[in-house]
Amino acid sequence: MGDKTYRVLLYYKYVHIDNPEELTNEHLKFCKDLGLKGRILIAEEGINGTVSGTVEQTEEYMNTLRQDPRFEDIEFKIDEADGHAFKKMHVRHRPEIVSLRLEDDIDPNELTGNYLEPKEFYQLLKDENTIVLDARNDYEYDLGHFRGAIRPDIKTFKELPEWVKENKEMLEGKRILTYCTGGIRCEKFSGWLKKEGFEDVNQLHGGIINYGKDPEVQGELWDGKMYVFDERISVPINQKEHVVVGKDYFTGEPCERYVNCANPECNKQIICSEENEHFFMRGCTHECRTAERNLYIEEHDLSEEEVQERLRKIEEYYETQAQEA
Ligand SMILES: [Zn+2]
Repeated sequence: MGDKTYRVLLYYKYVHIDNPEELTNEHLKFCKDLGLKGRILIAEEGINGTVSGTVEQTEEYMNTLRQDPRFEDIEFKIDEADGHAFKKMHVRHRPEIVSLRLEDDIDPNELTGNYLEPKEFYQLLKDENTIVLDARNDYEYDLGHFRGAIRPDIKTFKELPEWVKENKEMLEGKRILTYCTGGIRCEKFSGWLKKEGFEDVNQLHGGIINYGKDPEVQGELWDGKMYVFDERISVPINQKEHVVVGKDYFTGEPCERYVNCANPECNKQIICSEENEHFFMRGCTHECRTAERNLYIEEHDLSEEEVQERLRKIEEYYETQAQEA
């Protein structure tokens, strides 16, 4: 490990928990006492968390968790960091640790896809009979993905089964490879695919994070950056080359910077450069730019005249675009 003093841990474990509510309360106290920050979900089906803290704090957290027989073989993905990746510490009791909301739930301990280590996954990525299916949301895919992977057109993970049913022909008779950030979504999703009758279903063990850290593979064939659900927003994966796949929402230029639309009612995540954030007042549409509240306008204390002037320039920009097209 390098010389950074903080770490971000990502981990999950599908294991039966008898008393999820009790564990939720205990665990929150434990994490707060330790000084960690992050987000943890606890359900009857297991635990799913991302936390940040100093090397000492995270070390103590891992050791303590592993002393619990339910979590003794839990796998932690460790990223070095410059500071906390969260503002607060939340531990929440939920019906599921990832929300797929299936009619008949999947227990990955009973039914799941074949696990592939990074090297095996890398080799199969290059095989013609392989279909690579990104099990994440569209905005995660847009910032980075495995070369040649299919982008399911979904806003949340819950929509994935429906998408598969509508695109069944594409997947039939193929070797299916699925992947997600740390592996947790694929555990259930690949199990569900098997239950649906797909035979050759495989998942990337440890997810993209593990793949990027593998000393041999080093993230090869990953393009762009990986979206993460904390204040870092994205992290690098491919250690051998960096290909930008993200595109500026407004201009389509290569870009890897995510912002949220300044209209709090919208809050849509858009990829955009600093320059375009200013130019478009961080609004994803005209409606959002002129919404009742625009956080960009508030943050920059723009006067009504300044706003009108910007809106005129934006209009001019779109007129020029239309003429060129
Ligand atoms: Zn918007």
